[in-house]
Amino acid sequence: MRLSKYLFAILCVLTSYIYAQDNVAQSSLGITLNYAKGHQEFKDLYFKQHEKEFIRLVNEGQNPNALFIGCSDSRIVPDLILGTKPGDLFVIRTAGNFVPTYEEDEDNGVSATIQYAIEVLKIKHIIVCGHSHCGAIQGLYKDLNNLNILKRWLKWGESAKKIALLTSKSDILKEELYAITEQLSVIYQLDHLMSYPFIKSAVKKGDLQLHGWYYEIESGTITYYDPDLYQFIRLQKK
Ligand SMILES: [Zn+2]
Repeated sequence: MRLSKYLFAILCVLTSYIYAQDNVAQSSLGITLNYAKGHQEFKDLYFKQHEKEFIRLVNEGQNPNALFIGCSDSRIVPDLILGTKPGDLFVIRTAGNFVPTYEEDEDNGVSATIQYAIEVLKIKHIIVCGHSHCGAIQGLYKDLNNLNILKRWLKWGESAKKIALLTSKSDILKEELYAITEQLSVIYQLDHLMSYPFIKSAVKKGDLQLHGWYYEIESGTITYYDPDLYQFIRLQKK
């Protein structure tokens, strides 16, 4: 009797495990099928047309023109908004396009990737690109006590929030305050980059240039920060 109860319990556990696995398989199958169609189109069209270029990039290695540091937001697609191709941009995407400051004994992925881009790939330009309606920036103004990791990460936007609040009228619209914070944050992230010794020295030598950009999702427009004018100017073909 005791043995049959034991076997029954094992059976229940096995059944629920198989059921769970089946659910996982079903949901991943759905995702795979959706993306499989897009992937097939990529293989048949884009890849076929650019196959030689992909092979050249494998043989010669990558030599990107710029390190693009953008937000993880799904609405920001760097290669789409810049018309760039595989091999053109080295990309880091973080929540809020925040950049941590340099720490001697730091081992975070963002700093490591920045070091690789500048010291190994010798990239000559870093673009920090903020954007409108940024969830991370809005998060600076919200209570995120239940999101411990995100809350710690958002400290990299705190200075921008502080200055935005200090310089804005008390009756400013929330959307305007967010937009000001988004743009100020871009400038602060450039400052954070300058805390990396290898970036500071490359900038001083003229081997590296830092750029602060802002992308407006609703208009598709990019503006860049002009440090002489203290303004964001529309990025236009000359
Ligand atoms: Zn964002």
